[in-house]
Amino acid sequence: MIRLLLSRPLPAAVEDRARAEFDTEIRALNTPMSADEMRRALAEFDAVMPTLGDAFSAEVFGHVPRPRCRLLANFGVGYDHIDVDAARSAGIAVTNTPGAVTDATADIAMMLMLMSARRAGEGERLVRAGGWAGWHPTQMLGMHLTDRTVGIVGMGRIGQAVARRCHFGFAMEVRYVSRSAKTLDFPANREGSLTALAAAVDVLVIAVPGGPETRHLIDAGVLAAMQPGAHLVNVARGDVVDEAALIAALEAGRIAGAGLDVYEHEPEVPAALRALENVTLLPHLGTAALDVREGMGMMVLDNVAALAAGQPLPNPV
Ligand code: NAP
Repeated sequence: MIRLLLSRPLPAAVEDRARAEFDTEIRALNTPMSADEMRRALAEFDAVMPTLGDAFSAEVFGHVPRPRCRLLANFGVGYDHIDVDAARSAGIAVTNTPGAVTDATADIAMMLMLMSARRAGEGERLVRAGGWAGWHPTQMLGMHLTDRTVGIVGMGRIGQAVARRCHFGFAMEVRYVSRSAKTLDFPANREGSLTALAAAVDVLVIAVPGGPETRHLIDAGVLAAMQPGAHLVNVARGDVVDEAALIAALEAGRIAGAGLDVYEHEPEVPAALRALENVTLLPHLGTAALDVREGMGMMVLDNVAALAAGQPLPNPV
């Protein structure tokens, strides 16, 4: 029987299935695995479910020359915490959970767009602090999203789900950059460069994977290209945005606001960001709904089941 390690507690339905189908150990902690725990995982289990923060680096694989592990079935679509090349060299396949996360993450992007544009965080804090003096015609004027222009950085699954919501739900014009051409079922203009996109839109939404290739893709230059009334929304990975440059742009009023679900040094959120009224800060809520997390967990187990049955893995990366 496959020996499986789940690196975090999961929804009950997922844990029950894991225990029924495999010889399963469930780590009781919600914190990232230590290097020692990762080494033990590779040495003693056939399949391991890592997730965000479990840094399976080349060094970790290097410490376990003959791993028992044959599969890292990642819980999440983003796998920038795993050195996939080093895993492959060690004979370990990596899978993820694409699709299961798409709509929930796109919904969070819409929430951040609305909260940032319409100053919802600031307004909620005002009411909660007992400081609201009453409605008046020029109180807390924000940006009306309907008919505005959205720019999508990375027109993949989540990027397209955001764009679709913007087009069909808010009559927004959609522009984007992507590495490859896309066939889309809604109107969207592909821009030649990221700075051209940044300059053309009212809201810039980041939806590319994290990792070395996209680190600081949104830098001071891209932020400088944005219009003063524009908002930045990041539901991808924190290191895609140069956080120090973002803080500088916000403090100088060079952009109107930002809505962030992810941070460069998560879970640390700089005091400078927390001090800004025009920033909406969420604690990485992209997929935080029970049915979504169950769907992700079942996808992990489908990959482990395929390994056990000697069948092709459904979601290799
Ligand atoms: P996806 O379908 O693979 O889409 C990624 C898009 O980014 C694709 O359009 C891809 O272009 C583009 N891209 C990839 N590498 C790039 C690079 N080096 N430079 C420029 N563009 C690049 O992935 P997804 O399912 O939409 O997920 C996107 C990311 O969202 C995940 O990797 C994850 O980190 C993040 N995420 C966050 C949350 C959250 O809780 N906030 C939840 C889920 C996912 P091509 O189409 O040309 O390949």
